[in-house]
Amino acid sequence: MEYFSRQISDMIGELSRLPGIGSKSAQRIAFHILHSPKDEVKRLSDTIWSARENVRFCKECYTLTDSELCPICGNPKRNHRQIMVVEDSRDLAAYEKTQKYEGVYHVLHGAISPMQGIGPADIRLKELMLRLQHDVDEVIIATNSSLEGETTAMYIAKLLKPTGILTTRIASGVPVGGDLEYIDEMTLLRALEGRTEL
Ligand code: ZN
Repeated sequence: MEYFSRQISDMIGELSRLPGIGSKSAQRIAFHILHSPKDEVKRLSDTIWSARENVRFCKECYTLTDSELCPICGNPKRNHRQIMVVEDSRDLAAYEKTQKYEGVYHVLHGAISPMQGIGPADIRLKELMLRLQHDVDEVIIATNSSLEGETTAMYIAKLLKPTGILTTRIASGVPVGGDLEYIDEMTLLRALEGRTEL
């Protein structure tokens, strides 16, 4: 039995495809939107569309940004010889929130996962190696402490060995299986300060 007319059902259907949105939340959001002033709804949909249309990868670190270089790579005050490797842009944001890290980043957009068929060629590793042809003092591997994150860290460490570049891994103050984005800033800072050479 259909409870809602087609357009409302379609909207609930689309919303419930978003991560973390179950059918109840999708209904709540759908009715919230339907009760909102039209100009607010237009602003919301325009914002989403324009971000999707204009956001791209930073040509240095591959984080998502709306200009050629992200604000971090474009900042001459950052230490461009220290590169922290993270799995995605949300991890970068988590470290930026600590306001203590002064280096730059490299965003892999994923982690190696043989189980899910994600190999080294499926994440931005080639791009990392290209960056290392310039002067780099340290690569800090800050992938998650999940099985995939650890596998990726080990793979990168092996890849970097012949380059002689100092390669470190953030300390395991980060709980096993923990996503970096959910960890508080103090824990992240401790993990960064307690990093060890690989
Ligand atoms: Zn960048």
